[in-house]
Amino acid sequence: MCLDNFFTGGKRNVSHLLGKPNFELIRHDLVQPIFLEVDEIYNLACPASPIHYQYNPVKTVKTSVMGAIHMLGLAKRVNARILQASTSEIYGDPAVHPQKEDYWGNVNTIGIRSCYDEGKRCAETLFFDYHRQNKVNIRVVRIFNTYGPRMQPDDGRVVSNFIVQALKNQDITIFGNGSQTRSFCYVDDLIEGLIRMMNGPDDFIGPVNLGNSGEFTILELAKKIIEITDSKSRIIFKSLPQDDPRQRQPDIALAREKLGWEPETDLEEGLKKTIQYFREDKRVTS
Ligand code: UDP
Repeated sequence: MCLDNFFTGGKRNVSHLLGKPNFELIRHDLVQPIFLEVDEIYNLACPASPIHYQYNPVKTVKTSVMGAIHMLGLAKRVNARILQASTSEIYGDPAVHPQKEDYWGNVNTIGIRSCYDEGKRCAETLFFDYHRQNKVNIRVVRIFNTYGPRMQPDDGRVVSNFIVQALKNQDITIFGNGSQTRSFCYVDDLIEGLIRMMNGPDDFIGPVNLGNSGEFTILELAKKIIEITDSKSRIIFKSLPQDDPRQRQPDIALAREKLGWEPETDLEEGLKKTIQYFREDKRVTS
């Protein structure tokens, strides 16, 4: 069963599954409760791109907090195992580098990113309290920047923005001077990590970082994308949004040890696959 309110998702992303007898698509918003028979829940609900989660910040908090309460209540009722897609954002603008799971983070409670960061932090709290109080079988993963095919062209995050701009020969918009860093994980690697965590040992509930430890500046990313696409785009610099983290790199030793997991796709290979996807997307290239 796939639940989506389609605020940022698109039906075209699951259209190839619609005819399958074991697939069911339900339009639903997790701010409202839902009653289903399930044995595993992956809770990925919440817009993750800054422009989308800042569009209606109150709704973003509701999605993370009420969504977690509703899904944890469901897991408790039907005795399902439940995995929470948490985020590297819970580390905020990190004072520790690379980020390990025992770092508590450096998060502004009242900034423009707080609706997402604090919503996700509160969701982690709810997961661990339902686990301690109600013995709910939880798993918590902290996902670092992830990209790949089936992102929306207007998603707004850096990888899809730069690829779409490069393919259209439009200016590549770097926020700030481009020296801030991110570590980019290809979607297939991430999904493998999610599945391993869901099916992992019973005594390992997380939180565990999932991400690619290759760290790049945003300027390096822009240059790499221009090179691969052979684009005529120019790089332009715009102002840096408030509270934009300076650096980010996951320490994935725990995932390696407990799940035998590590990413297999390096940035160049992942970008090539993603660029190929966007080349075939008529919304981008026609
Ligand atoms: N960014 C950028 N140009 C864009 C979109 C994003 O320079 O068109 C920068 C952004 O300021 C941030 C980094 O790229 O430093 C990653 O941004 P994204 O929105 O992808 O994710 P997050 O900030 O949540 O890691």
